[in-house]
Amino acid sequence: MSPPIRIALIGMGKIAHDQHLPAIANDPAFELVATVSRHGGTLDALPFFDSIEALAASDVVVDAVALCTPPQVRRALAASAIDRGWHVFLEKPPAATLAEATALRTRAAAQGVSLFASWHSRHAAGVEPARAWLAERTLRDATITWAEDVRHWHPGQDWIFEPGGFGVFDPAINALSIATRIFPHPLFVESAEIEIPANRAAAIAANVLFRDEFGCAIDARFDFLQTGHQRWDIAARTDRGTMTLAEGGGTLAFDGATAAAQDDELATEYPALYRRFAELVRDGASEVDLTPLQLVADIHLKARIRIVDPFDW
Ligand code: NAP
Repeated sequence: MSPPIRIALIGMGKIAHDQHLPAIANDPAFELVATVSRHGGTLDALPFFDSIEALAASDVVVDAVALCTPPQVRRALAASAIDRGWHVFLEKPPAATLAEATALRTRAAAQGVSLFASWHSRHAAGVEPARAWLAERTLRDATITWAEDVRHWHPGQDWIFEPGGFGVFDPAINALSIATRIFPHPLFVESAEIEIPANRAAAIAANVLFRDEFGCAIDARFDFLQTGHQRWDIAARTDRGTMTLAEGGGTLAFDGATAAAQDDELATEYPALYRRFAELVRDGASEVDLTPLQLVADIHLKARIRIVDPFDW
């Protein structure tokens, strides 16, 4: 067995603690060698640094980094890691803009390191069975409903409503990462309306009409102010039956009958992401699919903007 990949985690916030730390701890292909965060602290006496430069200047040997910061600062950190010859795991979204993400892909290829633009929702239990089922049918139409309470899931994360923070498209891009995986044909944005709070820079809700290459409508509602029942659902009608992918891809039903069910989908998605990252490093390969980011950019290119009530936590 090859020695473990020595990995440093950068940006020690919610997702780093909730998912990356346990996934790394349980994967023998990785050894966590350091954490980096401006306001963090040491973790079980592990080397801790307040910047990537301090990590690089230390005697800690690093093969790879996972970047768990908000998207606004991801490109600079990733470029700095790539230039040091480190493999890079990017949390979603891979960067704040398409140009940033494509530049990282070029830079990693030139440097000969692996770059992994991760899409955790694509690893939810229902996604691959849904893709296989849809591949054998003709889509009639579909709906996407991604409606969650930002105050519950992202408390106090002001970066999310700053420019480049994606607003409601922070969760919505997960829906789009699934949609672009399971629907067999490319999606185009036909029309969109984005709601932006008067005191913020990024969307709090959006309605988007996509069509695929054959004209099938995919109607999406993204909402950050959903209270009560939270919804992360994609439903499709085909020539031979209906499909409902719920709970962020964790639960799948065909014609109302359950075909796959996963209680805590994030808990299975992150181990799968790290297995994939280890494969990429071992094979000297990269995986950078920017289609979900491209759709978010296209929505913003085509949308009517509506200014709505100010948002406060
Ligand atoms: P978070 O709790 O705010 O953590 C991000 C961390 O990045 C912060 O704790 C902060 O630590 C560091 N950071 C570095 N530069 C920063 C800056 N300019 N502004 C704010 N923080 C900065 O956010 P998160 O929920 O973990 O999300 C991080 C990324 O993971 C996002 O891209 C998100 O889409 C993705 N993600 C989140 C979830 C989730 O359930 N929360 C799920 C999947 C993916 P220091 O201040 O110590 O540097």
